[in-house]
Amino acid sequence: MAKQMYQTARGTKDTLPSEQPYWAEIKRVTEKTLLGLGFNRIDLPHFEAADIFSKGIGMETDIVSKEMFYIESRTDDETIKLALRPEGTAGAVRSYIQNGMVSWSQPVRLYYIGAMFRRERPQKGRFREFYQTGVEIFGDDSAKADYLSIMSAWEILSRLGLKNLLVYTNSIGCSNCRPKYIVKLKKYYKEKTAKLCPDCQNRYEANPLRLLDCKEEKCQVLTKSAPTMLDNLCTDCKQHFQQTLEYLDYFNIRYDLDPTLVRGLDYYTRTVFEIVEKNDKGRRNTIVGGGRYDNLVELLGGVSTPAVGYSFGIERVINLMKEQNITPPKLRGVEVCILQLGDRAKEVSKKIYDSLSKEDINVYFVPNNDGIRPQIRTAVKLGATYAVIIGQKEALNDEIILRDLTSSSQEVFSSKIIAEEVKKRLVKCECP
Ligand SMILES: [Zn+2]
Ligand SMILES: [Zn+2]
Repeated sequence: MAKQMYQTARGTKDTLPSEQPYWAEIKRVTEKTLLGLGFNRIDLPHFEAADIFSKGIGMETDIVSKEMFYIESRTDDETIKLALRPEGTAGAVRSYIQNGMVSWSQPVRLYYIGAMFRRERPQKGRFREFYQTGVEIFGDDSAKADYLSIMSAWEILSRLGLKNLLVYTNSIGCSNCRPKYIVKLKKYYKEKTAKLCPDCQNRYEANPLRLLDCKEEKCQVLTKSAPTMLDNLCTDCKQHFQQTLEYLDYFNIRYDLDPTLVRGLDYYTRTVFEIVEKNDKGRRNTIVGGGRYDNLVELLGGVSTPAVGYSFGIERVINLMKEQNITPPKLRGVEVCILQLGDRAKEVSKKIYDSLSKEDINVYFVPNNDGIRPQIRTAVKLGATYAVIIGQKEALNDEIILRDLTSSSQEVFSSKIIAEEVKKRLVKCECP
């Protein structure tokens, strides 16, 4: 009988050991940057009441209407319909409200790193389970928060070594100026709906702002002469956007205005932005996407609180690192192996293991009765830089042989100073 061969589910993947240095480096740089800018980490559940997403993100968005994974309820007492989170912001807002963060010192700056789930048609570089870093700033309606958002994302990508980055930004107005603009926009498209793609014909009623960012060529032709939100902002929105841009100028962040940038989600207000690779003119491979969402906290039942945030897909950043030939630092594996011969050496080895570990050296020691040659082979296979060799004679004399596994050269040291000696050498070999 043929054996069943199980495979990963459609749109999911294994992250094998060879990929881990990328993940570790992105996590390290992200946390260092964000903690250093006053953000705090939060971890949110992977599933929530589906309502949080449909209400927060918008029923008409692709994410909610086509891509959400609902969790089948098995018992009658599960009356609340649950869904796997397709993005992080709605859950973060739910948490802000539920935990009374409105009474914390404002602004509240949060970030999270974790898996998101969308039933997308799997294609190159897109998965149904994918990882995002999300950043949210609550309780600051000034342009400072918009700036801190964009700047922190820019910093993370730059510190990872990514080059040729460009911010696209736009303002999509507020509840004062946007409705008036939508009327103008619909008026512009009214006679032209027949020329739009089928998706846009639906968007005309359901989500007219999204007419602007359709990637279909026949729609883009029409977009060129459409009225822009930037020309129709109210005084407050205009001033807010100008201040945001002044901050970006000050920090030398490269940006372009893009009046067709609206982001797909309903909750955005005022500043929206994306960071892309400079040659990605059509913004097809957005690295970072975000913006302000001043009405979402209230919409989900909280006290009206301004907020701004963004997220980036970790897989996308890894792809870009590879495209730009950025090699992440190796993970620290085995640095020293202890090799021993004889019973007395075994006892001494345990003490040496403790003294090396205490110095934060990664040391591998499994007592065994093998000869020295096979033990050296094991050490080399494990990728250790040094072997500490303790034979019968060394055990009696409180001595140790330190063998450099790259050059095969050896030196004898007193066991008392071995930890210090190894540490000195390891530091030396990391920064030549
Ligand atoms: Zn406005
Ligand atoms: Zn279209």
